[in-house]
Amino acid sequence: MIAVTGFEGQAVGVLGLGRSGLATARALVAGGARPLLWDDSPEARAKAEAEGFATTDLTRAAALEGMAALIVSPGIPHLYPAPHRVIARALDLGVPVDNDIGLFFRSFATAGWDGFDQPARVICVTGSNGKSTTTALIHHILEVAGRPTQMAGNIGRGVLDLEPAVDGEVIVLELSSYQTDLARALTPDVAVFTNLSPDHLDRHGGMGGYFAAKRRLFAEGGPDRAVIGVDEVEGRYLANQLSEGPGDDRVIRISSGQKLDAHGWAVFARKGFLAEWRRGRQVASIDLRGVAGLPGAHNHQNACAAFAAVRTLGVSPKVIEEAFHSFAGLPHRSQLVGERNGVRFVNDSKATNVDSAAKALQAFLRIRWIAGGLGKEGGIAALAPYLGAVAKAYLIGHSARDFALQIGDTPHEICETMDRAVAKAAAEAEPGDVVLLAPAAASFDQYPNFEKRGEDFSARVQAVLKG
Ligand code: ADP
Repeated sequence: MIAVTGFEGQAVGVLGLGRSGLATARALVAGGARPLLWDDSPEARAKAEAEGFATTDLTRAAALEGMAALIVSPGIPHLYPAPHRVIARALDLGVPVDNDIGLFFRSFATAGWDGFDQPARVICVTGSNGKSTTTALIHHILEVAGRPTQMAGNIGRGVLDLEPAVDGEVIVLELSSYQTDLARALTPDVAVFTNLSPDHLDRHGGMGGYFAAKRRLFAEGGPDRAVIGVDEVEGRYLANQLSEGPGDDRVIRISSGQKLDAHGWAVFARKGFLAEWRRGRQVASIDLRGVAGLPGAHNHQNACAAFAAVRTLGVSPKVIEEAFHSFAGLPHRSQLVGERNGVRFVNDSKATNVDSAAKALQAFLRIRWIAGGLGKEGGIAALAPYLGAVAKAYLIGHSARDFALQIGDTPHEICETMDRAVAKAAAEAEPGDVVLLAPAAASFDQYPNFEKRGEDFSARVQAVLKG
């Protein structure tokens, strides 16, 4: 655990008692602060109380008086569509609002680091898609390279649950836009921006607010190196703003599809090959075609981002290539969960937005597509160019009928539930087909989260394969 410093003897509010909220409460206690805990959900409060914490009703008018800071969980709106009422009160009273990421950056470095041969470093990864894959891949490469490393953030473990750093350690953090928007301190050594496409717009007041939230990772203090995906205009703009000129190698541009040979430092993938260019010369190349854990052009973008990030730490292309081959991939992201008679079953339950679903639809040639759930703002009309590979769509969840209207002539059937969709798709599939779960929608209408949805899909597939 990282003990939070700077609040000794002071009251600090903790709003939201999920995984990161409880980790924050423990870390505040370890640093000598007095956390005041609240969650609107009685179940969450009961969990905190079972761990021995008292809870304090922060919605009461006087509760925030004398509070040194209010620490907020990422799931709680802090600005749009409207701030949670406790946060609104903090804004009125001038109580600084922060999150666990901000606390981490102000508390992570300690006097013990003076004895290190190599200071610990922090790599942060943000972007609309590919964050978890890129974060896990960077962590895996560092392990293969024999560097001490820990991973946390939006993936797996709360940042304040990390162990204090050891000599030469590299911490890899996945950060969502909610997290980068709110953190009062954001000072990574290396920051990665994978890509940008519309998502979570209700929480950011539109695309401009969403981009602004992610850009804070590059603005607050400024990383030593910035790895920027330039396949969208926002990335090109950000890379341009951060670099002094064409020869500046503080910014590493990455792309899946474009040749980038006119910059100080760039890493790109084309036709299945990754290439690293520095000052007009190619310095490394990796054949990605046989890398089973990173299929598709979108994963090649993630490979470029991870490659660039670890190259800034001096890891050799040879070690990176070896690590690519031993990377198992993450569950629920283009994950092969079964195969029978030439039909493959792929779980991409994490394709919760249009962009990630589009990437999944481009990764296979003939698809029986299971889609639907809680549809997002803007609908799925933008998927039209990628429906050519869809032999038939099997629509589930709240948005099933809506999606049916939006996919036009593509053959489809309203199946409502996962079990019916899997059974139908499996029965109709021909050799060479891929039965693909890529919902293009959130899972909350039928499942607690995308993981449970993916597990349900996998379980139904296993049942069909056994039957
Ligand atoms: P995040 O943590 O940003 O949500 P993940 O690595 O969990 O990213 O992947 C989320 C979804 O997006 C999955 O469906 C995955 O297959 C897809 N995906 C992964 N990398 C990319 C990428 N670089 N561009 C677009 N989609 C991607």
